Amino acid sequence: MSIFGVYGAPHAANLVYYGLHTLQHRGQEAAGIAAFDENGKGLRHRGLGLLGEVFNQSILDTLKGSIAMGGVKYANASKGGLDNVPPLFFHHHSGDFAIANDGNLINRAEVVSYLESRGNIFMTDTDSELMADLIKKEETGEDRIFSIVSALQKMEGGFTFLIMTKNRLYACRDRNGIKPLALGKLGDGYVVSSETCAFDLVGATFLRDVEPGEIVTIDHHGIRSMMYDEHPRHLMCGMEYIYFARPDSDIDGCNVHAYRKESGRRLCRECPADADIVVGVPDSSLSAAMGYAEESGLPYEMGLVKSKYVGRTFIEPSQSMRERGVKMKLSAVHSIVDGKRVVLVDDSIVRGTTSLKIINLLREAGAKEVHVRIASPMMTHPCFYGVDTSTKEELLCSHRTLEEARVKIGADSLGYLSPESTVASCPGREALCLACFTGKYPTPIYDHETEINK
Ligand code: SF4
Repeated sequence: MSIFGVYGAPHAANLVYYGLHTLQHRGQEAAGIAAFDENGKGLRHRGLGLLGEVFNQSILDTLKGSIAMGGVKYANASKGGLDNVPPLFFHHHSGDFAIANDGNLINRAEVVSYLESRGNIFMTDTDSELMADLIKKEETGEDRIFSIVSALQKMEGGFTFLIMTKNRLYACRDRNGIKPLALGKLGDGYVVSSETCAFDLVGATFLRDVEPGEIVTIDHHGIRSMMYDEHPRHLMCGMEYIYFARPDSDIDGCNVHAYRKESGRRLCRECPADADIVVGVPDSSLSAAMGYAEESGLPYEMGLVKSKYVGRTFIEPSQSMRERGVKMKLSAVHSIVDGKRVVLVDDSIVRGTTSLKIINLLREAGAKEVHVRIASPMMTHPCFYGVDTSTKEELLCSHRTLEEARVKIGADSLGYLSPESTVASCPGREALCLACFTGKYPTPIYDHETEINK
């Protein structure tokens, strides 16, 4: 998921559209935008599909006003269907409001039972609805910020929220800083985005990251900050740097491309390979492959090409069609890999099925040897913070040794980056969330204990 909000700029919904377009890599299942017009009337449009399938200019023209926000959704813990598509809109006598979020509550069951015991019933499976219900339950007639503080104090997990009223935007980040959220300046107004790469396209300049445990309020006074947790931690999701974020984004002050390149250099030092060329798996592994090539002195070659025009493969009824699905997305370049010993750099291995297929593609194109190098540690545990990394049993390395994993994917050799180097690739950083690699979760995991002890 990703979220993007605009305060104090004409045609704010258009800007949200462009912002979300830049963030489309974080969610392709559905998209939505909400706005308040100059009379304080709430407006919204959402639908299933890519942003360009859900919106056109005439729809955007109906979303008038200088305050707007939206999200693109990825099919994760909250199920599909239009009801769950962000932003959610709520009517209340104290004023209508909209909410969108990225990430997941890990204590969802606890929050649901707290609300149910107070008479709530739910329309969706979203954390945004829980946030709305908590805000309303905690409202005391004081400023709404206090009910948001109280709601956030009941939530545990990796998340960011945008909450929009007719004249105010609130941006909130979890106390462990697992999910990214950045603030930008746009003329006299402001933007908030899951990633900084969206700022350029809308003409905004980066101001700062929203801090872990912080609520930023944006209104006609400018921006104000309030901490809802006294002991915030900086445990950004390691997979943001490794895989999710765009290389042109800066997360918590570290550029994603620079991070990946450094992780590739370190990978080369930790797991050298006797080979002829270095090839990266497009697109998220290319920066790490460049770093590996630079450090090893081997040529970096484009041995794999990704088709730009393959979206989601909707119909996958048989194994042979699924195989074709990989070939539709990636091709090995025969003239480059034929007769070569290839170092294949990938960002991570989840189940191993894609690695097996890519190695086969390279061998079919004539590669003599394929030495797989992974720019992250062995993935052994599921994520409960909104990243779909599969169940523990499905993960290649949850019950396999390094050698067993190598045999399973059919590589000539296999090497992974150490957890220490995964953190150290980000200069000045002391820690990241690496729970899917180490099993050390940054929060209590509540009723997920049984899943990780299988
Ligand atoms: S468990 Fe893994 S994917 Fe999930 S937040 Fe932590 S590092 Fe990211």
